[in-house]
Amino acid sequence: MSDLIKTPEILNSKECLALSAKAFSQKLKTREAMIGENLIIRRALPHHDRKTIGAWCFLDHFGPLNLKNNKGLNIGPHPHIGLQTFTYPLAGEILHRDSLGSKQKIQAGQVNLMTAGKGISHSEESLPDSLLHGVQLWIALPDAVRHMEPNFIHYPNIPTIALDNINIKLLTGEFANAVSPVKTYSPLVGLELQALEDSSCLLPLNPTFEYGILLLVGNVEIANEVIGIDTLLYLSCGQTKLSLRVPKDARIMIIGGEPFKEDILIWWNFVARNKEEIIQATNAWNNHTAFGEVLGYQGDRLAPPELQ
Ligand code: MN
Repeated sequence: MSDLIKTPEILNSKECLALSAKAFSQKLKTREAMIGENLIIRRALPHHDRKTIGAWCFLDHFGPLNLKNNKGLNIGPHPHIGLQTFTYPLAGEILHRDSLGSKQKIQAGQVNLMTAGKGISHSEESLPDSLLHGVQLWIALPDAVRHMEPNFIHYPNIPTIALDNINIKLLTGEFANAVSPVKTYSPLVGLELQALEDSSCLLPLNPTFEYGILLLVGNVEIANEVIGIDTLLYLSCGQTKLSLRVPKDARIMIIGGEPFKEDILIWWNFVARNKEEIIQATNAWNNHTAFGEVLGYQGDRLAPPELQ
């Protein structure tokens, strides 16, 4: 995914509500944009009031859209540095290609994890005649590994944990004595919940983690308050459980992690530490001096917006 909702200014992770000793929650409205004629993208992160949750620094929820009579996603080659892209379709199929030579179709319930490190480029296309619905997240890489060689891993099988009548996909991290194979570089968790029946549950939380809860289908009741798909609910550190009332067929994304201690700058598809790095990466992309080439994609590579 590229920055389809244009954010011309550089976003600084320092500029949000400071963490306090007392646990608190924040309701953050997602921003919506229409891509092409019909595809709705809802951006939950970064948000004006919350740039990161753990090392999670970007969360786009796209669709659902029936592609029978609609164009879906078709994102030409574009570069990334300093982050991992984490793609999780709820429905449909997306074809990933990258400058390492990867060509990988991802289906519902699977994860594509691309670690950009010092630099990679990729393209993403939804495949026709299916539904398109899913999320893409970015994870900021800690300074110690952010210049690593890039890599791409496809995870076809994600562990599922049953909690009462709720199926929990363990997308990354650890939960209920299970460990996800999806490789990240800081303490994080990613869960997707789907209720088989109208259900209530008490979800254990790690008090050293902060969390974000985003509805992907339907709505959920949290602490007697209904949260819908236009809201990301942020929970600060210091909380040990979350009481949920989940209607049948609702689907919920939960992300969490230890607050990311490094200040990051996010601009276009780059996660950096200072503006000079962003300028360098932009020039390298424009001049074809880094990021390699994506082979086999029919179409143009993306041009960066103008840096303010
Ligand atoms: Mn991308």
